[in-house]
Amino acid sequence: MQTHEIRRRFLAHFENAGHTPVPSASLILDDPTLLFVNAGMVQFKPYFLGDAPAPYRTATSIQKCVRTGDIENVGHTTRHNTFFQMAGNFSFGDYFKEGAIRHAWSLITGSLDDGGYGFDPERIWVTVYENDDEAERLWQEVAGLPLERIQRRDGRDNYWDMGIPGPGGPCSEIYYDRGPEHGLEGGPVADEDRYVEIWNLVFMQDVRGADSPKYGAAPVGELPQKNIDTGLGVERVAFLLQGVDNVYETDLLRPVIDRTQELTGRRYGADPADDVRFRVIADHVRTAAMVIGDGVTPGNEGRGYVLRRLLRRVVRNARILGCTEPVLVDLVGVVRDAMGPSYPELVTAYERIAAVVRAEEETFLATLATGSKIFENAVADTRAGGGTTIPGASAFALHDTYGFPIDLTLEMAAEAGLQVDEGAFRSLMDEQRARAQADAKARKTGGGDAHAYREVLERSGLTEFLGYELLHADAT
Ligand code: ATP
Ligand code: MG
Ligand code: MG
Ligand code: MG
Repeated sequence: MQTHEIRRRFLAHFENAGHTPVPSASLILDDPTLLFVNAGMVQFKPYFLGDAPAPYRTATSIQKCVRTGDIENVGHTTRHNTFFQMAGNFSFGDYFKEGAIRHAWSLITGSLDDGGYGFDPERIWVTVYENDDEAERLWQEVAGLPLERIQRRDGRDNYWDMGIPGPGGPCSEIYYDRGPEHGLEGGPVADEDRYVEIWNLVFMQDVRGADSPKYGAAPVGELPQKNIDTGLGVERVAFLLQGVDNVYETDLLRPVIDRTQELTGRRYGADPADDVRFRVIADHVRTAAMVIGDGVTPGNEGRGYVLRRLLRRVVRNARILGCTEPVLVDLVGVVRDAMGPSYPELVTAYERIAAVVRAEEETFLATLATGSKIFENAVADTRAGGGTTIPGASAFALHDTYGFPIDLTLEMAAEAGLQVDEGAFRSLMDEQRARAQADAKARKTGGGDAHAYREVLERSGLTEFLGYELLHADAT
Protein backbone atom coordinates (compact mmCIF):
# COMPACT_ATOMS: atom_id res chain seq x y z
CA MET A 1 0.00 0.00 0.00
CA GLN A 2 1.43 3.33 -1.09
CA THR A 3 1.97 6.02 1.54
CA HIS A 4 -0.57 8.21 -0.17
CA GLU A 5 -3.21 5.51 0.35
CA ILE A 6 -2.19 5.00 4.00
CA ARG A 7 -2.77 8.69 4.60
CA ARG A 8 -6.06 8.67 2.73
CA ARG A 9 -7.40 5.69 4.65
CA PHE A 10 -6.49 7.23 7.99
CA LEU A 11 -8.35 10.46 7.29
CA ALA A 12 -11.31 8.64 5.74
CA HIS A 13 -11.60 6.34 8.73
CA PHE A 14 -11.85 9.22 11.15
CA GLU A 15 -13.89 11.52 8.94
CA ASN A 16 -16.44 8.73 8.58
CA ALA A 17 -16.59 8.70 12.35
CA GLY A 18 -17.36 12.42 12.47
CA HIS A 19 -13.88 13.89 13.04
CA THR A 20 -13.09 17.28 11.52
CA PRO A 21 -10.07 17.01 9.21
CA VAL A 22 -7.49 19.64 10.10
CA PRO A 23 -4.53 20.37 7.79
CA SER A 24 -0.99 19.89 9.06
CA ALA A 25 0.47 22.92 10.77
CA SER A 26 3.79 24.29 9.56
CA LEU A 27 6.89 22.66 11.06
CA ILE A 28 7.65 26.07 12.50
CA LEU A 29 5.18 27.25 15.09
CA ASP A 30 5.44 30.11 17.47
CA ASP A 31 6.13 27.88 20.47
CA PRO A 32 9.18 28.77 22.53
CA THR A 33 9.46 25.21 23.87
CA LEU A 34 9.97 23.70 20.42
CA LEU A 35 12.48 24.06 17.62
CA PHE A 36 10.19 22.13 15.30
CA VAL A 37 6.71 20.68 15.60
CA ASN A 38 7.33 17.13 16.79
CA ALA A 39 3.84 15.69 17.28
CA GLY A 40 0.32 15.97 15.96
CA MET A 41 -1.03 17.46 19.18
CA VAL A 42 1.17 20.54 19.10
CA GLN A 43 -1.24 22.68 17.09
CA PHE A 44 -4.07 21.66 19.45
CA LYS A 45 -2.22 22.61 22.65
CA PRO A 46 -4.47 25.59 23.51
CA TYR A 47 -7.52 23.29 23.49
CA PHE A 48 -5.85 20.70 25.69
CA LEU A 49 -4.66 23.37 28.10
CA GLY A 50 -8.13 24.93 28.21
CA ASP A 51 -6.72 28.25 26.94
CA ALA A 52 -9.21 28.29 24.10
CA PRO A 53 -12.40 26.34 23.40
CA ALA A 54 -11.91 23.64 20.77
CA PRO A 55 -13.92 24.51 17.63
CA TYR A 56 -14.76 20.78 17.25
CA ARG A 57 -15.30 17.83 19.60
CA THR A 58 -13.13 15.52 17.55
CA ALA A 59 -10.49 16.12 14.91
CA THR A 60 -8.03 14.25 12.72
CA SER A 61 -4.82 15.36 11.03
CA ILE A 62 -1.59 14.22 9.44
CA GLN A 63 1.09 16.40 10.91
CA LYS A 64 4.56 17.05 9.55
CA CYS A 65 7.02 16.32 12.34
CA VAL A 66 10.75 16.80 12.85
CA ARG A 67 12.59 15.13 15.71
CA THR A 68 16.21 16.16 15.80
CA GLY A 69 16.67 14.00 18.89
CA ASP A 70 16.37 10.94 16.66
CA ILE A 71 19.20 11.98 14.33
CA GLU A 72 21.70 9.48 15.72
CA ASN A 73 19.21 6.65 15.19
CA VAL A 74 18.72 7.43 11.53
CA GLY A 75 20.03 4.73 9.25
CA HIS A 76 20.85 2.46 12.17
CA THR A 77 17.40 1.51 13.46
CA THR A 78 14.65 0.38 11.12
CA ARG A 79 12.22 3.02 12.25
CA HIS A 80 13.57 6.51 12.98
CA ASN A 81 13.35 9.42 10.58
CA THR A 82 14.25 13.01 11.35
CA PHE A 83 11.16 14.04 9.36
CA PHE A 84 8.05 11.89 9.50
CA GLN A 85 4.30 12.17 9.25
CA MET A 86 2.22 11.61 12.34
CA ALA A 87 -1.42 10.74 11.73
CA GLY A 88 -3.65 11.43 14.69
CA ASN A 89 -7.15 11.51 16.05
CA PHE A 90 -8.10 13.85 18.84
CA SER A 91 -11.02 14.04 21.23
CA PHE A 92 -11.64 17.16 23.26
CA GLY A 93 -13.95 15.89 25.97
CA ASP A 94 -15.74 13.55 23.58
CA TYR A 95 -14.83 9.82 23.54
CA PHE A 96 -12.15 8.51 25.87
CA LYS A 97 -10.17 5.28 26.33
CA GLU A 98 -12.72 2.90 24.95
CA GLY A 99 -13.40 4.98 21.85
CA ALA A 100 -9.69 5.49 21.17
CA ILE A 101 -8.96 1.76 21.43
CA ARG A 102 -11.96 0.84 19.29
CA HIS A 103 -11.01 3.28 16.52
CA ALA A 104 -7.36 2.25 16.46
CA TRP A 105 -8.13 -1.45 16.46
CA SER A 106 -10.71 -1.25 13.67
CA LEU A 107 -8.37 0.73 11.42
CA ILE A 108 -5.25 -1.38 11.86
CA THR A 109 -6.95 -4.77 11.73
CA GLY A 110 -9.78 -3.76 9.39
CA SER A 111 -9.68 -5.66 6.11
CA LEU A 112 -7.94 -4.15 3.10
CA ASP A 113 -11.19 -4.31 1.13
CA ASP A 114 -12.94 -2.40 3.82
CA GLY A 115 -10.67 0.63 4.14
CA GLY A 116 -8.43 -0.86 6.85
CA TYR A 117 -4.70 -1.58 6.99
CA GLY A 118 -5.19 -5.32 7.20
CA PHE A 119 -2.62 -6.05 9.93
CA ASP A 120 -2.86 -9.61 11.27
CA PRO A 121 -4.46 -9.21 14.73
CA GLU A 122 -2.38 -12.15 15.99
CA ARG A 123 0.75 -10.06 15.52
CA ILE A 124 -0.42 -7.02 17.44
CA TRP A 125 0.94 -6.36 20.92
CA VAL A 126 0.20 -3.39 23.16
CA THR A 127 1.70 -1.77 26.22
CA VAL A 128 -0.25 0.02 28.94
CA TYR A 129 0.84 2.20 31.85
CA GLU A 130 1.80 0.14 34.89
CA ASN A 131 -1.35 0.86 36.91
CA ASP A 132 -3.80 1.38 34.07
CA ASP A 133 -6.08 -1.60 34.75
CA GLU A 134 -8.84 0.03 32.77
CA ALA A 135 -6.82 0.13 29.53
CA GLU A 136 -5.69 -3.45 30.04
CA ARG A 137 -9.31 -4.56 30.47
CA LEU A 138 -10.49 -2.57 27.43
CA TRP A 139 -7.85 -4.10 25.16
CA GLN A 140 -9.19 -7.51 26.11
CA GLU A 141 -12.86 -6.58 25.81
CA VAL A 142 -12.81 -4.30 22.79
CA ALA A 143 -10.03 -5.89 20.74
CA GLY A 144 -10.07 -9.40 22.13
CA LEU A 145 -6.33 -9.22 22.80
CA PRO A 146 -5.07 -11.97 25.08
CA LEU A 147 -3.43 -10.82 28.29
CA GLU A 148 -0.06 -12.28 27.13
CA ARG A 149 0.15 -9.63 24.45
CA ILE A 150 -0.56 -6.72 26.80
CA GLN A 151 2.53 -5.52 28.63
CA ARG A 152 2.81 -2.99 31.43
CA ARG A 153 5.42 -0.27 31.41
CA ASP A 154 6.36 2.46 33.82
CA GLY A 155 6.19 6.23 33.55
CA ARG A 156 9.29 6.60 31.42
CA ASP A 157 7.65 4.89 28.46
CA ASN A 158 3.95 5.00 29.12
CA TYR A 159 3.10 8.23 30.83
CA TRP A 160 2.80 11.47 28.96
CA ASP A 161 2.61 15.01 30.26
CA MET A 162 2.51 18.50 28.87
CA GLY A 163 4.93 20.12 31.26
CA ILE A 164 4.58 20.42 35.01
CA PRO A 165 2.20 21.66 36.28
CA GLY A 166 -0.19 20.71 33.52
CA PRO A 167 -2.24 17.93 31.98
CA GLY A 168 -0.92 14.40 31.72
CA GLY A 169 -2.07 10.86 31.39
CA PRO A 170 -1.18 7.24 30.79
CA CYS A 171 -0.52 6.04 27.25
CA SER A 172 -0.93 2.82 25.43
CA GLU A 173 1.33 1.91 22.53
CA ILE A 174 0.51 -0.46 19.70
CA TYR A 175 3.22 -2.69 18.21
CA TYR A 176 3.47 -5.01 15.24
CA ASP A 177 5.49 -8.21 15.52
CA ARG A 178 7.72 -8.57 12.45
CA GLY A 179 8.46 -12.17 13.32
CA PRO A 180 11.20 -14.28 14.93
CA GLU A 181 13.72 -13.62 12.15
CA HIS A 182 13.81 -9.99 13.31
CA GLY A 183 14.78 -10.46 16.94
CA LEU A 184 13.97 -11.71 20.40
CA GLU A 185 10.75 -13.24 21.67
CA GLY A 186 8.96 -11.52 24.51
CA GLY A 187 7.07 -8.54 23.17
CA PRO A 188 8.05 -4.89 22.84
CA VAL A 189 9.49 -4.83 26.33
CA ALA A 190 12.13 -7.29 25.09
CA ASP A 191 12.85 -5.98 21.59
CA GLU A 192 11.59 -2.83 19.88
CA ASP A 193 13.20 -3.70 16.56
CA ARG A 194 11.27 -6.90 16.13
CA TYR A 195 8.11 -5.40 17.66
CA VAL A 196 7.72 -2.08 15.90
CA GLU A 197 5.75 0.67 17.59
CA ILE A 198 3.20 2.05 15.18
CA TRP A 199 0.71 4.00 17.26
CA ASN A 200 0.63 5.77 20.59
CA LEU A 201 -2.68 6.52 22.34
CA VAL A 202 -2.55 9.13 25.08
CA PHE A 203 -5.37 9.21 27.61
CA MET A 204 -5.25 12.74 28.99
CA GLN A 205 -6.97 12.51 32.35
CA ASP A 206 -4.74 13.90 35.12
CA VAL A 207 -3.77 17.28 36.42
CA ARG A 208 -0.18 17.24 37.62
CA GLY A 209 1.04 19.66 40.24
CA ALA A 210 4.20 21.68 40.53
CA ASP A 211 5.78 18.99 42.74
CA SER A 212 4.89 16.04 40.55
CA PRO A 213 7.92 13.92 39.63
CA LYS A 214 9.35 13.99 36.13
CA TYR A 215 7.92 10.61 35.23
CA GLY A 216 4.71 8.82 36.02
CA ALA A 217 1.31 9.62 37.36
CA ALA A 218 1.18 11.72 40.48
CA PRO A 219 -2.04 13.52 39.77
CA VAL A 220 -3.19 16.31 42.02
CA GLY A 221 -6.55 16.19 40.32
CA GLU A 222 -8.64 15.05 37.39
CA LEU A 223 -9.00 17.09 34.23
CA PRO A 224 -12.50 18.56 34.02
CA GLN A 225 -12.59 17.34 30.45
CA LYS A 226 -10.86 14.12 29.41
CA ASN A 227 -9.06 14.20 26.11
CA ILE A 228 -7.58 11.81 23.59
CA ASP A 229 -4.40 12.49 21.64
CA THR A 230 -2.98 9.81 19.37
CA GLY A 231 -0.09 9.52 16.95
CA LEU A 232 0.39 6.89 14.28
CA GLY A 233 3.68 6.82 12.38
CA VAL A 234 2.78 6.90 8.68
CA GLU A 235 6.33 5.93 7.62
CA ARG A 236 6.26 2.95 9.96
CA VAL A 237 2.94 1.68 8.67
CA ALA A 238 4.27 2.17 5.14
CA PHE A 239 7.39 0.14 5.78
CA LEU A 240 5.42 -2.70 7.34
CA LEU A 241 2.71 -2.77 4.67
CA GLN A 242 5.14 -2.45 1.78
CA GLY A 243 7.14 -5.47 2.87
CA VAL A 244 10.43 -3.57 2.95
CA ASP A 245 12.98 -3.63 5.76
CA ASN A 246 12.80 -0.13 7.17
CA VAL A 247 11.35 3.36 6.89
CA TYR A 248 14.04 4.44 4.41
CA GLU A 249 12.97 1.99 1.72
CA THR A 250 9.34 2.97 1.34
CA ASP A 251 7.86 4.51 -1.78
CA LEU A 252 8.66 8.01 -0.46
CA LEU A 253 12.35 7.56 0.33
CA ARG A 254 13.52 4.68 -1.83
CA PRO A 255 13.66 6.95 -4.92
CA VAL A 256 16.31 9.04 -3.13
CA ILE A 257 18.35 5.92 -2.39
CA ASP A 258 18.01 4.86 -6.02
CA ARG A 259 19.13 8.21 -7.32
CA THR A 260 22.05 8.19 -4.89
CA GLN A 261 23.12 4.84 -6.35
CA GLU A 262 23.19 6.43 -9.79
CA LEU A 263 25.09 9.48 -8.59
CA THR A 264 27.69 7.54 -6.63
CA GLY A 265 27.98 4.37 -8.65
CA ARG A 266 27.68 2.31 -5.47
CA ARG A 267 25.00 -0.26 -4.86
CA TYR A 268 22.64 -0.17 -1.90
CA GLY A 269 22.69 -3.55 -0.14
CA ALA A 270 26.31 -4.36 -0.91
CA ASP A 271 27.99 -3.08 2.22
CA PRO A 272 26.43 -2.43 5.66
CA ALA A 273 28.41 0.76 6.35
CA ASP A 274 27.53 2.18 2.93
CA ASP A 275 23.90 1.26 3.48
CA VAL A 276 23.75 3.44 6.59
CA ARG A 277 25.04 6.32 4.47
CA PHE A 278 22.42 5.76 1.79
CA ARG A 279 19.71 5.81 4.44
CA VAL A 280 21.07 8.91 6.14
CA ILE A 281 21.20 10.71 2.79
CA ALA A 282 17.61 9.79 1.95
CA ASP A 283 16.31 10.77 5.35
CA HIS A 284 18.20 14.04 5.71
CA VAL A 285 17.60 15.32 2.20
CA ARG A 286 13.88 14.97 2.70
CA THR A 287 13.94 16.66 6.10
CA ALA A 288 15.99 19.52 4.70
CA ALA A 289 13.57 20.02 1.82
CA MET A 290 10.57 20.05 4.16
CA VAL A 291 12.22 22.43 6.59
CA ILE A 292 13.32 24.86 3.87
CA GLY A 293 9.83 24.58 2.40
CA ASP A 294 8.52 25.92 5.71
CA GLY A 295 10.86 28.88 5.60
CA VAL A 296 14.10 27.93 7.37
CA THR A 297 17.45 28.89 5.87
CA PRO A 298 20.85 27.54 6.90
CA GLY A 299 22.53 29.44 9.72
CA ASN A 300 24.72 29.09 12.76
CA GLU A 301 22.13 28.64 15.44
CA GLY A 302 18.77 27.13 16.22
CA ARG A 303 16.73 25.82 13.31
CA GLY A 304 19.16 27.18 10.75
CA TYR A 305 21.95 25.19 12.33
CA VAL A 306 19.92 21.99 12.37
CA LEU A 307 19.27 22.48 8.68
CA ARG A 308 22.93 23.20 7.97
CA ARG A 309 23.95 20.06 9.80
CA LEU A 310 21.48 17.92 7.88
CA LEU A 311 22.68 19.26 4.54
CA ARG A 312 26.32 18.85 5.43
CA ARG A 313 25.80 15.29 6.51
CA VAL A 314 24.22 14.54 3.13
CA VAL A 315 27.09 16.11 1.24
CA ARG A 316 29.75 14.34 3.28
CA ASN A 317 28.07 10.99 3.06
CA ALA A 318 27.70 11.36 -0.70
CA ARG A 319 31.43 12.18 -0.91
CA ILE A 320 32.31 9.13 1.11
CA LEU A 321 30.20 7.05 -1.24
CA GLY A 322 32.42 8.32 -4.03
CA CYS A 323 30.52 11.22 -5.49
CA THR A 324 32.61 14.16 -6.63
CA GLU A 325 29.90 16.43 -8.02
CA PRO A 326 27.30 18.46 -6.09
CA VAL A 327 24.27 16.32 -5.23
CA LEU A 328 21.77 18.40 -3.30
CA VAL A 329 19.79 20.05 -6.08
CA ASP A 330 19.43 16.73 -7.82
CA LEU A 331 18.27 14.94 -4.68
CA VAL A 332 15.78 17.58 -3.55
CA GLY A 333 14.23 17.22 -7.00
CA VAL A 334 13.67 13.54 -6.26
CA VAL A 335 12.12 14.45 -2.89
CA ARG A 336 9.81 16.93 -4.61
CA ASP A 337 8.60 14.30 -7.05
CA ALA A 338 7.98 11.73 -4.30
CA MET A 339 6.44 14.04 -1.71
CA GLY A 340 4.85 16.64 -3.97
CA PRO A 341 1.46 14.94 -4.35
CA SER A 342 0.88 15.20 -0.58
CA TYR A 343 2.90 18.39 -0.04
CA PRO A 344 2.29 20.80 -2.95
CA GLU A 345 4.36 23.43 -1.12
CA LEU A 346 7.43 21.42 -2.17
CA VAL A 347 6.45 21.90 -5.79
CA THR A 348 5.60 25.58 -5.58
CA ALA A 349 8.66 26.40 -3.47
CA TYR A 350 11.02 24.17 -5.46
CA GLU A 351 13.07 26.96 -7.05
CA ARG A 352 13.65 28.54 -3.66
CA ILE A 353 14.56 25.22 -2.05
CA ALA A 354 16.95 24.40 -4.88
CA ALA A 355 18.60 27.82 -4.60
CA VAL A 356 19.12 27.42 -0.86
CA VAL A 357 20.69 23.98 -1.12
CA ARG A 358 22.80 24.94 -4.12
CA ALA A 359 24.37 27.88 -2.26
CA GLU A 360 24.89 25.87 0.90
CA GLU A 361 26.57 23.02 -0.93
CA GLU A 362 28.91 25.35 -2.82
CA THR A 363 30.07 27.00 0.39
CA PHE A 364 30.45 23.72 2.18
CA LEU A 365 32.40 22.07 -0.64
CA ALA A 366 34.81 24.99 -0.58
CA THR A 367 35.21 24.58 3.19
CA LEU A 368 35.78 20.86 2.77
CA ALA A 369 38.30 21.39 0.01
CA THR A 370 40.58 23.52 2.16
CA GLY A 371 39.90 22.04 5.57
CA SER A 372 40.09 18.36 4.67
CA LYS A 373 43.81 18.51 3.92
CA ILE A 374 44.50 20.24 7.23
CA PHE A 375 42.32 17.70 8.96
CA GLU A 376 44.18 14.81 7.30
CA ASN A 377 47.47 16.33 8.46
CA ALA A 378 46.18 16.53 12.02
CA VAL A 379 45.13 12.88 11.83
CA ALA A 380 48.51 11.85 10.44
CA ASP A 381 50.40 13.83 13.12
CA THR A 382 48.27 12.34 15.87
CA ARG A 383 48.85 8.82 14.62
CA ALA A 384 52.54 9.42 14.05
CA GLY A 385 52.85 10.52 17.66
CA GLY A 386 51.16 7.27 18.72
CA GLY A 387 48.16 9.19 20.05
CA THR A 388 44.43 8.71 19.60
CA THR A 389 43.36 12.28 20.37
CA ILE A 390 43.57 15.19 17.99
CA PRO A 391 44.83 18.20 19.98
CA GLY A 392 42.41 21.01 20.80
CA ALA A 393 44.71 23.46 19.04
CA SER A 394 44.29 21.62 15.73
CA ALA A 395 40.53 21.55 16.09
CA PHE A 396 40.66 25.25 16.91
CA ALA A 397 42.80 26.08 13.89
CA LEU A 398 40.42 24.11 11.69
CA HIS A 399 37.53 26.09 13.09
CA ASP A 400 39.16 29.47 13.17
CA THR A 401 41.11 29.48 9.95
CA TYR A 402 39.28 27.01 7.74
CA GLY A 403 35.69 27.40 8.93
CA PHE A 404 35.46 23.73 9.95
CA PRO A 405 32.70 23.50 12.58
CA ILE A 406 33.68 21.44 15.60
CA ASP A 407 30.94 18.87 15.06
CA LEU A 408 32.34 18.19 11.62
CA THR A 409 35.80 17.67 13.09
CA LEU A 410 34.31 15.40 15.74
CA GLU A 411 32.41 13.40 13.17
CA MET A 412 35.38 13.01 10.85
CA ALA A 413 37.65 12.14 13.76
CA ALA A 414 35.24 9.45 14.91
CA GLU A 415 35.26 8.00 11.41
CA ALA A 416 39.04 7.89 11.56
CA GLY A 417 38.81 6.13 14.94
CA LEU A 418 40.18 9.14 16.82
CA GLN A 419 38.99 11.48 19.53
CA VAL A 420 39.31 15.23 19.80
CA ASP A 421 40.50 17.11 22.87
CA GLU A 422 37.24 19.00 23.15
CA GLY A 423 38.13 20.54 26.52
CA ALA A 424 41.21 22.24 25.08
CA PHE A 425 39.23 23.29 22.02
CA ARG A 426 36.60 24.91 24.24
CA SER A 427 39.15 26.86 26.29
CA LEU A 428 40.71 28.19 23.12
CA MET A 429 37.26 29.23 21.96
CA ASP A 430 36.65 30.94 25.32
CA GLU A 431 39.94 32.77 25.07
CA GLN A 432 39.07 33.93 21.62
CA ARG A 433 35.68 35.13 22.78
CA ALA A 434 37.24 37.06 25.66
CA ARG A 435 39.62 38.62 23.19
CA ALA A 436 36.79 39.67 20.93
CA GLN A 437 34.89 41.16 23.85
CA ALA A 438 37.94 43.05 25.01
CA ASP A 439 38.36 44.28 21.48
CA ALA A 440 34.78 45.48 21.29
CA LYS A 441 35.09 47.26 24.62
CA ALA A 442 38.31 48.93 23.61
CA ARG A 443 36.65 50.11 20.46
CA LYS A 444 33.80 51.59 22.47
CA THR A 445 36.06 53.50 24.83
CA GLY A 446 37.75 55.24 21.92
CA GLY A 447 40.73 54.36 19.78
CA GLY A 448 43.73 56.13 21.24
CA ASP A 449 43.17 55.73 24.96
CA ALA A 450 45.91 53.35 26.04
CA HIS A 451 44.60 53.42 29.59
CA ALA A 452 41.35 51.79 28.49
CA TYR A 453 43.25 49.01 26.74
CA ARG A 454 45.31 48.33 29.81
CA GLU A 455 42.20 48.07 31.93
CA VAL A 456 40.60 45.64 29.53
CA LEU A 457 43.74 43.57 29.25
CA GLU A 458 44.13 43.37 32.99
CA ARG A 459 40.55 42.28 33.48
CA SER A 460 40.65 39.53 30.92
CA GLY A 461 44.19 38.51 31.84
CA LEU A 462 45.52 38.48 28.30
CA THR A 463 49.21 38.28 27.47
CA GLU A 464 51.21 41.15 26.09
CA PHE A 465 51.37 39.42 22.75
CA LEU A 466 47.60 39.28 22.48
CA GLY A 467 47.49 42.86 23.64
CA TYR A 468 49.59 43.82 20.68
CA GLU A 469 47.27 41.97 18.34
CA LEU A 470 44.35 43.68 19.92
CA LEU A 471 45.78 47.15 19.53
CA HIS A 472 46.80 46.35 16.03
CA ALA A 473 43.38 45.05 15.10
CA ASP A 474 41.79 48.18 16.42
CA ALA A 475 44.10 50.42 14.46
CA THR A 476 43.17 48.95 11.08
P1 ATP B 1 10.04 5.15 19.53
O1 ATP B 1 9.88 4.59 20.91
O2 ATP B 1 10.02 4.10 18.46
O3 ATP B 1 11.19 6.09 19.41
P2 ATP B 1 8.17 7.14 20.32
O4 ATP B 1 7.51 6.42 21.46
O5 ATP B 1 9.25 8.09 20.62
O6 ATP B 1 8.71 6.05 19.25
P3 ATP B 1 5.79 8.72 19.98
O7 ATP B 1 6.28 9.93 20.64
O8 ATP B 1 4.87 7.83 20.72
O9 ATP B 1 7.05 7.86 19.43
O10 ATP B 1 5.15 9.14 18.57
C1 ATP B 1 3.95 8.57 18.04
C2 ATP B 1 4.26 7.71 16.82
O11 ATP B 1 5.03 8.40 15.85
C3 ATP B 1 5.07 6.47 17.16
O12 ATP B 1 4.23 5.43 17.61
C4 ATP B 1 5.72 6.14 15.82
O13 ATP B 1 4.84 5.39 15.01
C5 ATP B 1 5.91 7.50 15.18
N1 ATP B 1 7.29 7.97 15.33
C6 ATP B 1 7.88 8.47 16.44
N2 ATP B 1 9.15 8.85 16.22
C7 ATP B 1 9.38 8.59 14.92
C8 ATP B 1 10.50 8.76 14.08
N3 ATP B 1 11.65 9.30 14.52
N4 ATP B 1 10.41 8.38 12.78
C9 ATP B 1 9.26 7.84 12.29
N5 ATP B 1 8.15 7.66 13.04
C10 ATP B 1 8.20 8.02 14.33
MG1 MG C 1 11.28 8.02 20.25
MG1 MG D 1 8.13 4.48 22.19
MG1 MG E 1 5.42 6.16 21.76
